[in-house]
Amino acid sequence: MRRKPIKYYSTNLKSPEVTFSEALLKGLAPDGGLYLPSSLPLISPSELMSFTCKEYHEIAFNILNKIIGNEIDKEELLKLCAESYNFEVPLEKVLDRKYIMRLDHGPTASFKDFAARMMSRLMQYFLSINNQHLTILTATSGDTGSAVANAFYGLNNINVIILFPVNEVSLMQRKQMTSLQNNITVIAIDGKFDDCQRLVKMAFLDPALSDISLSSANSINIGRLLPQSVYYFYAYSKLTTNIMEKVIFSVPSGNFGNLMGGLIAKKMGLPVKQFIISTNENNEVPEYLRTGNYNLINPSRNCISSAMNVGHPSNLARIVAYYEGIMDESGNIIKTPDLLKMREDLFAVSVTDEETRSTIEEVYRKYNLLLEPHGAVAWRGMREYFALNINSMLGKPLCISLETAHPAKFPVEIRQILNFEPPLPASLVGLEQKPEHYFPMDNSYGLLKDFILKNY
Ligand SMILES: *Cc1c(COP(=O)(O)O)cnc(C)c1O
Repeated sequence: MRRKPIKYYSTNLKSPEVTFSEALLKGLAPDGGLYLPSSLPLISPSELMSFTCKEYHEIAFNILNKIIGNEIDKEELLKLCAESYNFEVPLEKVLDRKYIMRLDHGPTASFKDFAARMMSRLMQYFLSINNQHLTILTATSGDTGSAVANAFYGLNNINVIILFPVNEVSLMQRKQMTSLQNNITVIAIDGKFDDCQRLVKMAFLDPALSDISLSSANSINIGRLLPQSVYYFYAYSKLTTNIMEKVIFSVPSGNFGNLMGGLIAKKMGLPVKQFIISTNENNEVPEYLRTGNYNLINPSRNCISSAMNVGHPSNLARIVAYYEGIMDESGNIIKTPDLLKMREDLFAVSVTDEETRSTIEEVYRKYNLLLEPHGAVAWRGMREYFALNINSMLGKPLCISLETAHPAKFPVEIRQILNFEPPLPASLVGLEQKPEHYFPMDNSYGLLKDFILKNY
C-alpha cells in the first residue's frame, strides 16, 4: 500500500500546504514562511541498526525514500543518491568516545556538498518531467555558492545566480564559483552576507519578477535540509551497536540548516541526547535560549569562521516551529515556543575568535587533529558543554563534533596558528590559475532587479 505523500506547511501558517516537489521548486512559501514537513516517518531501531553495514549513499536512499518516496521513482532516487554521495565521510576518533565527523570530502570541500548535490539532482528530476525551467537565486557567505555552483553546473533546466559579499569570501571560495560560467552567473555585492540574503528575499517577494520562475538554493529550501539529516543517522549507526545509547552532536551553526537536519533526524527516531549549538561571536541564538528574548545582530559580526557570520539565521523560524512557536521573517516572535523543551534538547554556546584560534592550536598539539575555524568552534562548544555539565561526562557518552570545511580552505589562518599550510585536497588543486568571471554590483535591490529582468 502506498502511503499518502507528506505535505509541507509554511512556518507563517498563511499558505496552503504543498507536496515535496512543490516546496522544493518554490523555495520560499508565498506568505514569506519556510516549508516544513507536517509529519515525518519513523526509522525503527532495527532499521537503524541495519545501517551499520550500509554505505552512505544506501543510508541516504533509505531515509529519503521514506520521506519523499511517494513522489519519485525508487530506481531514480537510488541512482541520484549514488551519484550525489560518491565520496568518503570519515569518522575520526579523538579520545574516549569523542569523534570528529569530516563532512569536507565532497567536490567543494564543505559540508554544503551534501545538500547541494542531492537538491540539484532532485530539482532537475522534477523539472525535466514537465519540461519546466527554473532560475536559482541564492546568497552565499562562501561555501553555499561554491557547493551550489558545482552541483548545478551544466544542468539543462536550471540557471543559477549567486550573490556574495565582495569582501567576505576567501579567494578559493570565490574561484570555486566564478571559474565555471555556462549556466552559473555570479554577482559580487558591495555589502555583507545579510545584505545578500535580504536582496534574495526581496526578489522572491517582488511581483515584478513573478514571470521568472525563481527559486532558492539557500537553506530556506527544504530540499537542502532533508539530505542533511542523513549524516546524523550515518554517524550514529557506524559508532554504536547499542540502540539504547544516546548521542551528543556539536553543530557549528550559522543559518542553522545543519542543525535542522539534526532535528529532523531526531524527530525520525534517532536517539539524540542533546545537540550542542556552537556559534561564533554572532551569539543571537545562544542569547535567545538563555533569556527568551530574541535580538538579531545587525550588522553581523565578522569572525574567522566566516560561513557562520549570520546575525539573523534564516532557519530560526523553523526551529521555533519545531518547538511549537511562530517566528516571522523579521524575527518577531508571534507565538512563544516551548523554551523549556528547547533548552532540554539544545545547549547553545558562543565561541570567540580567540578561543577558536587557541582550539585549533591546542587540538593539533594534543591530538594531532587538524581543524579549520568552523570545526574548531564546534569542538570548543563541546568542551564548554562538558565543562558545564560535568555529570554528562560520566560513562563517557558518544559525542560527535562536526567538521564542516576542509582546513585547506583556510590557508592563511592555519599558517598563522600552526606555521604550515594544509595540503590541498585533489578537488581544489589548480583552482588558483583558473580565470574568473563575475559582475560587481552596489548593494541595491533596484540594480539586482534590473539585472534579472534584462538577463532572464
Ligand atoms: C554554511 C556553513 C556552516 C553553517 O551551517 P548552517 O547550516 O548555516 O548553520 C558552518 N560551516 C561551514 C564551513 C559552512 O560552510
